[in-house]
Amino acid sequence: ARRAAVSRARAEIDLAALRANVRALRERAPGAALMAVVKADAYGHGAIPCARAAVAAGATWLGTATPQEALALRADAGLPDDVRIMCWLWTPGGPWREAVEADLDVSVSGMWALEEVIEAARSAGLPARVQLKADTGLGRGGCQPGEDWAELVREALRAESEGLLRVTGLWSHFACADEPGHPSIAAQLTRFRDMTAYAEQQGVRPDVRHIANSPATLTLPEAHFDLVRPGIAMYGVSPSPEIGTPADFGLRPVMTLAASLALVKQVPGGHGVSYGHHYTTPGETTLGLVPLGYADGVPRHASSTGPVLVDGKWRTVAGRIAMDQFVVDLGGDRPEPGTEAVLFGPGDRGEPTAEDWAQAAGTIGYEIVTRIGSRVPRVYL
Ligand code: PLP
Repeated sequence: ARRAAVSRARAEIDLAALRANVRALRERAPGAALMAVVKADAYGHGAIPCARAAVAAGATWLGTATPQEALALRADAGLPDDVRIMCWLWTPGGPWREAVEADLDVSVSGMWALEEVIEAARSAGLPARVQLKADTGLGRGGCQPGEDWAELVREALRAESEGLLRVTGLWSHFACADEPGHPSIAAQLTRFRDMTAYAEQQGVRPDVRHIANSPATLTLPEAHFDLVRPGIAMYGVSPSPEIGTPADFGLRPVMTLAASLALVKQVPGGHGVSYGHHYTTPGETTLGLVPLGYADGVPRHASSTGPVLVDGKWRTVAGRIAMDQFVVDLGGDRPEPGTEAVLFGPGDRGEPTAEDWAQAAGTIGYEIVTRIGSRVPRVYL
């Protein structure tokens, strides 16, 4: 049996793969700048190392959800000052003055937010960088077209003329870009063109107009505008089976989740395994214990379905995934404790991928990588 080089659970993060993915995405959108989306701790991969790697590979913008995530990058990532950092999740009473002082681009979807940013700019004595978000059809954040948009544009321009802010961007987000041909895609693009054209007719001079997430970056050149905002593709995970595999686009998975078997033991046939005894050994067999559980982000919904590579063979989670551990039935094999169990990785050593786990758990690859918990050390390659 092969012994693992590192005898513990770990998520290996291949930063060379991330850099290559950023370069591949830039080639797909040659006329556009690239904003590396590093929210949620870079989808579980580690915000600071991934932000640095993305910038080294040519990303000129970083995108986060919360202002706290963006402030942490500005303070701690050691990035060049000219790297733009945008955050888009509005929180009433958020750290907007600090955001202005840190030169963050702040997204605003309505008057209540615009007024708060203007107040923050006044107290900072600096102009805010504001990106106006249009709801072109997602039905989540963003300003509705029509009167609401006209008012937001007018008031933003008024504040700009008073030196309180600069409208740096006009932007939106797709609902169904991961379903090629979905009629909402064309409808959103039309509305985005209309809403940006209106704002520009009124005098807005944005640095960037943008709407493309990963699936749009990969499959919809007409959605690239001035900047693309890929997240999941940068981590080498597919946005959806309909879009294709990462390899179809020259992308390589960045995260490998592996652990060493903590215990290997023989048990007789008819032995119930794990909580609820949802698995019973069909005959005498070897069980291996993998020291990762739902506290580490291994989805409990993949109980009895999740695949694991052990000694060159795919094994399936036997019974329920518990908080800290789960069991695999190793059949007739008798690997030594310490043998490596790979839950997912790039797939080229025969291991399952994050997409396989998404399928096993009835979810999306995004959730598989993003939920890997803080107890699992990230090992940067
Ligand atoms: N832009 C915004 C506003 C987002 O919220 C996200 C993530 O959901 C992205 C871009 C990146 O999306 P994806 O990971 O599908 O590329």
